[in-house]
Amino acid sequence: MRPSRQIEIIGGGLAGLSLGLALRRSDVPVALFEAGQYPRHRVCGEFIAGLDESTIGNLGLGPFLAGAHRHHEVAWVFGNGPVQRRQRLPEPALGLSRHRLDAALAAAFVEAGGRLHTATRVADLEAREGRVLCTGRRRANPGWMGLKFHVRGLSLTSDLELHLGDQCYVGLAPIEDDRVNVCGLFARRPLCAKGPNLLLGYLQAAGLTALAERLAGAAIDATSFCAVAGVDFDAGIAAGAGPRLGDAAGVTPPFTGNGMAMAFQSAECALPHLREYARGAVDWTVTSDRIAQSLSSRFNRRLRSATLLHPWILRPARQRWLRAAAPFGFPPLRPLYALLH
Ligand SMILES: Cc1cc2nc3c(=O)[nH]c(=O)nc-3n(C[C@H](O)[C@H](O)[C@H](O)COP(=O)(O)OP(=O)(O)OC[C@H]3O[C@@H](n4cnc5c(N)ncnc54)[C@H](O)[C@@H]3O)c2cc1C
Repeated sequence: MRPSRQIEIIGGGLAGLSLGLALRRSDVPVALFEAGQYPRHRVCGEFIAGLDESTIGNLGLGPFLAGAHRHHEVAWVFGNGPVQRRQRLPEPALGLSRHRLDAALAAAFVEAGGRLHTATRVADLEAREGRVLCTGRRRANPGWMGLKFHVRGLSLTSDLELHLGDQCYVGLAPIEDDRVNVCGLFARRPLCAKGPNLLLGYLQAAGLTALAERLAGAAIDATSFCAVAGVDFDAGIAAGAGPRLGDAAGVTPPFTGNGMAMAFQSAECALPHLREYARGAVDWTVTSDRIAQSLSSRFNRRLRSATLLHPWILRPARQRWLRAAAPFGFPPLRPLYALLH
């Protein structure tokens, strides 16, 4: 039987777009409302860790990820010191820009017959029958902010670099077109610089002066600069009326590199239930409950673990411990990977 009930998706990031595309491929009528336009830069480390082949297959993501870098190794740098440790990742992480990925997914959604309304911010986000919220993180904690820009032609000491400073960490991740994405999470400070200089100022204030100088001498793409304030994290799937996916359901700290994978995986969790609803087999209340249960069982443990571990990356006293323990194999990536992905 042809699905006849429509799904309305609010928010066209990775959760909303991948869900919309997969539903359209099952012939479900979908309308998607997105506040912004494509392509656009987003504050994101732009490396994807923990995305398994089954999710890629179930959502038909293969063609969108085909050109991504495969990152095999990460270098840890504490403050202005040398590379303290190089570690092989248990599984390769993928590197590509949100500028490219979101735009490609949006185009495919339209091509598949989805109705995409860009530059349309939905004011009323009340739960409604057939509505799925994929609206990203709720702005909550004014203490943290994310900043990012792209640089061209920068050589790295490893596939990925992770720099730890005073109440901050910064990832350097190669993406397409010989670019490196530079993205950090910082404790908010009263700095009055703008654009890329704001990120450079934050690096200096956090004691990462060597990295700031290295980047200042590189070809920064000022148009890729973006910032987000009020970043906060969840220790479990947020309760709320109606289905929420991706960051709207639960935000994992960026060091896991798993937020994008979670956005896709949450769409994968919701997909079979929304298909059933669309063909009239179940009502909306049952659909919403089943999606919430599926998200909780898939994500609660990793969200709880990630929020417990986050201070070890962020707080100077614990970073010192981590640095001292690095020669003895810390952090042990394989068990952490299993816990956080
Ligand atoms: C500093 C930082 C670094 C990160 N680094 C990484 C990383 O390296 N790897 C990784 O996997 N993850 C990383 N993440 C997390 C990752 O970016 C998110 O988990 C991911 O973007 C979530 O996707 P989403 O679709 O849920 O939300 P989003 O990508 O945020 O999309 C939500 C969309 O909803 C739209 N929207 C919101 N409200 C409305 C409305 N009312 N009406 C219409 N549209 C609306 C927004 O415009 C937006 O396009 C990082 C996050 C931060 C803050």
